[in-house]
Amino acid sequence: MELNFEQGPIRPPSEAESLLIRATRNCPWNKCTFCHSYHDSKFSLRSVEEIKQEIDAMHAIAENIAKLSCKRGQGGKVNDSIVQMIFNDYGFSDAYRTVAAWLYFGGKSVFLQDANSIIMKTEDLVEVLKYIKMIFPFVDRITSYGRSKTAAKKTVEDFVKLKAAGLSRIHVGMESGYDPVLEFIKKGETAADHIEGGKRIMAGGISLCEYIIPGMGGDKWSTEHAKQTAEVLNEINPDYIRLRSLQVREGTALYTMMKEGLFTPLADEDVLKEIRLLLENLHCRDTYVVSDHILNLLQEIEGKLPNDKERMLGTIDRYFSMSLKDRMIYRLGRRRGIYNSLDDLANIRIYDRLRQIVEEYEKKDPQQLDRDLYKAMHGFI
Ligand code: SF4
Repeated sequence: MELNFEQGPIRPPSEAESLLIRATRNCPWNKCTFCHSYHDSKFSLRSVEEIKQEIDAMHAIAENIAKLSCKRGQGGKVNDSIVQMIFNDYGFSDAYRTVAAWLYFGGKSVFLQDANSIIMKTEDLVEVLKYIKMIFPFVDRITSYGRSKTAAKKTVEDFVKLKAAGLSRIHVGMESGYDPVLEFIKKGETAADHIEGGKRIMAGGISLCEYIIPGMGGDKWSTEHAKQTAEVLNEINPDYIRLRSLQVREGTALYTMMKEGLFTPLADEDVLKEIRLLLENLHCRDTYVVSDHILNLLQEIEGKLPNDKERMLGTIDRYFSMSLKDRMIYRLGRRRGIYNSLDDLANIRIYDRLRQIVEEYEKKDPQQLDRDLYKAMHGFI
């Protein structure tokens, strides 16, 4: 029988090296207006037996790969030559490629898919976690997405049990801490749910990562979105805050609203001002702020609160202290995937190439580049 397992559509960026185990399918809520991840897909729980069978399949594949490595004189290791062989040979299935890549990156972390696997009965999830640890004893981190509302319905004791069974971190899509924004995006959760759910996860000893969407309040609620989100985060004091700037994707309800003029996304620089306001109002302790998403203009905003707050604000101020032309050059480079940080502006050859493009735009219409970057970001084209 072919060894295989299901894989869901997404994972957090920080779980790129994790083995993805699909504990539940899709999203039980699936109504957020900005979200396209589980479009038209129905949520379902999976039985513990079914999940265990897939873990067994992953384990069998890992053993087969180790045998192959021994046969090729690599001592069971999954190194460059083994990974290249598996990825270049069409005889190997995607399941083999998935497990090989995981082992290549160390095979230490697991992410439980899909959108809200903490919705499983605590005892079922505990059984799955223990099984993962038994089959792969070298795994030292198991994480999952979870909705605040679901977390708020579990007890602290539930989270203590999940932690003891091996659940290390829960990634929560808070998006905003401002109720009118949460209602507008049909999040199905309130600021109070976020606080309650977040506090219970933290009290259970599980690491908590809250995802925030700068720009989610559009031009209407930018200030309130920043300030109230900071308030909610201050209450929770999570281990991580991750920023992911809004991109309105075609096919979402928010895209339709945008087209109908019911929602106006913020311009790049207004999003940055909003992030500044959020940071200014954050008073968390020992919370790591990360801005590692590809859509964020300044990925180098990163540090631990409270000590690194001034440095993070300084990064934003450094951007705004640049001339309008340099800011345009940076934005163009960033959106074309050329620049990763403000320091990249020091590369004269690339800078000159981008400057020429900006100046071409300036000759025709000084506002056009700004409009094109905005359109590209929000799928207007
Ligand atoms: S809860 Fe998460 S996955 Fe589900 S619809 Fe909302 S944003 Fe998408």
